[in-house]
Amino acid sequence: MAKNHRGKGLNSLPLHGRGECPVCKRTGVKLLYDIKAADKTVKVCKVCKSTPAEKLSV
Ligand SMILES: [Zn+2]
Repeated sequence: MAKNHRGKGLNSLPLHGRGECPVCKRTGVKLLYDIKAADKTVKVCKVCKSTPAEKLSV
């Protein structure tokens, strides 16, 4: 899907996709990216999506 992290598509997400990033602990960031860490999938922000899974402490 194109641009599924922008615009009206965000309205269907809880809190419009916003929340606290479990990796960088910033609040009010959009958590749009699913990454795999220790057999579970977590939502992280744009900045953290490229963080290697080994560096994640979640
Ligand atoms: Zn983050």
